[in-house]
Amino acid sequence: MKWSWRNVLMWFLPISVALFLIWQELIIPAMNNSTSQTDIGKNIASSRMTYGRFLEYLDMGWVKKVDLYDNGHTAIVEAVGPDLGNRVQRIRVELPALGQELIPKLKAANVDIDAHPIDNDSSSPVETIENLLVSIAIVAGLIFIFRRPNNIGDPNRQARAFGQSNANVQMEADTGVQFDDVAGVDEAKEEFQEVVTFLKKPEVFTDLGATVPKGVLLVGPPGTGKTLLAKAIAGEAGVPFFSVSGSEFVEMFVGVGASRVRDLFKQAKANAPCIVFIDEIDAVGRQRGTGIGGGNDEREQTLNQMLTEMDGFEGNTGVIVIAATNRADILDSALLRPGRFDRQITVDVPDCKGRLEILKVHSNNKKIDNDVSLQAIARRTPGFSGADLANLMNEAAILTVRRGKSLITSSEIDVAIDRIVAGMEGTPLVDSKSKRLIAYHEIGHAIVGTLLKNHDNVQKVTLMPRGQARGLTWFMPSEDQTLISRSQILARIVGALGGRAAETVIFGDSEVTTGAGNDLQQVTSMARQMVTRFGMSKVGPLSLESESGDPFLGRSMMSGSEPSERVVTDIDKQTRAIIAECYQQAINIIKANRVVIDYLVDLLIEKETIEGHELQEIISNYTKLPV
Ligand code: ADP
Ligand code: MG
Ligand code: ZN
Repeated sequence: MKWSWRNVLMWFLPISVALFLIWQELIIPAMNNSTSQTDIGKNIASSRMTYGRFLEYLDMGWVKKVDLYDNGHTAIVEAVGPDLGNRVQRIRVELPALGQELIPKLKAANVDIDAHPIDNDSSSPVETIENLLVSIAIVAGLIFIFRRPNNIGDPNRQARAFGQSNANVQMEADTGVQFDDVAGVDEAKEEFQEVVTFLKKPEVFTDLGATVPKGVLLVGPPGTGKTLLAKAIAGEAGVPFFSVSGSEFVEMFVGVGASRVRDLFKQAKANAPCIVFIDEIDAVGRQRGTGIGGGNDEREQTLNQMLTEMDGFEGNTGVIVIAATNRADILDSALLRPGRFDRQITVDVPDCKGRLEILKVHSNNKKIDNDVSLQAIARRTPGFSGADLANLMNEAAILTVRRGKSLITSSEIDVAIDRIVAGMEGTPLVDSKSKRLIAYHEIGHAIVGTLLKNHDNVQKVTLMPRGQARGLTWFMPSEDQTLISRSQILARIVGALGGRAAETVIFGDSEVTTGAGNDLQQVTSMARQMVTRFGMSKVGPLSLESESGDPFLGRSMMSGSEPSERVVTDIDKQTRAIIAECYQQAINIIKANRVVIDYLVDLLIEKETIEGHELQEIISNYTKLPV
């Protein structure tokens, strides 16, 4: 090892921190124990009082001794009194500048006075060394962080973390992730197979005169495995993985982001072949010069630097840049030009089959009971991302341990799903009017849902509070649905209004509660989208809404024409009409089934939870279920 300054610091920092910790943990307590009563050590400064309070104490005759420090600006007061538990306490008091008048007063009160030289107040030997060590550690740390490393190379080193290497660039020599660890994203994997081949055997391409993409953009919602995929490419190709997050560039001082980008690419080129992964690239890569209030200089400089770097290296240097975002629509078009991120790969939330595959990956290392069907879990979890599924299996495993079992059973998995979907379970309400009202609300959802032909089946109704909700009706989604019909949306709206409808019918208009707030929000949004996006209303088959976007994110300010006032009124009218009709339908269903509703509510209050099949059986005794 070279005995350079860097090395010295590298050793010095941890050692000094360690020494400091040892000092704090071991030596100071030991010294404190042996401190005699009269010794004003620094261990006393913890309690303080105001000057006014001190004068009161003095008047009460509670003050025994005053030690003056800091040229008479600070005093350590020894006092004893009923307020202080009748024990001698040492208390610190900041004295006002006119503190000199105090002396006669103290003398009159027969208080023992002692003065100490300037500065002495903060320099007991213990504290001096302590302070010294802290300052040295801080200085060393700062020097260390601000010194630029001249070479980050050394691929044998695992994951250099923040502070150890160049600020926030992370470097992993071997990610240890393989394509097999990423499931349910087959198209993306196929695309990437080519990238892996290029990294391993560039000749295959260069011999033919082909240039390989420099940049690949991964687009998809959070938790769908974008980072994992990028790592898998590096892992499969056996090349180092450099990663940095776009959001980290933005917080920095002007100009720093750009130089970080330069550094990042310099390091990457020195370590080629390798993968450079830029997470959340939208943070730097937004459309330039749009957002409200002018552009963000720092962001633009960083982005320009990134573009320059990507143009700068030859197609065959072996550096491949992979960027991830969940908003490709707001990216600057310059980023997407050929020779930059010209390939886009979409990674979406998995479908049922994809979820099954991801579940398989995440149950490989777990002990699972035979009664658990991954297929059934996959069917019950539409909308779950890969990260949600990983979390689900982990929660189930933790719960199994907590229950002292040796195998994960479907009971633990059910609990884990419920928790991820709806939050933590609370304690049940005691029987009361409001519990009764919640029960009617939930049974309202359940019965409307059950009796509507196009509605998903009820999985269970429960009065166990969870997250924000005080009761819940769970529906069993039949299959993955990418296309939803008009009658299905209408059924969902009626079902969502079932809760409020039940409250109104049973308790009257004046007793309805805020509990339906969430339902109404959903109802309104569904009805509105029927009108404005899906052309499912009398307004006709028009799309009336431009992609909604945040004007601060750029672009959306310029795009699309605002709908005219008449159109706005039309949208409003049709939305209301849909909701009114659905609400009437919900009210009708509640009124027509009052007897079974009353029965179910009593049962629910007694049992807390009614399973879907039981519910259907009971309802079918009273009325005909849709087929
Ligand atoms: P993103 O970068 O898209 O937000 P990550 O790659 O960070 O998502 O995924 C987080 C975690 O979720 C991964 O570490 C992995 O455990 C799990 N995961 C996500 N997607 C998948 C997938 N397709 N296959 C297997 N595991 C996945
Ligand atoms: Mg990520
Ligand atoms: Zn509700």
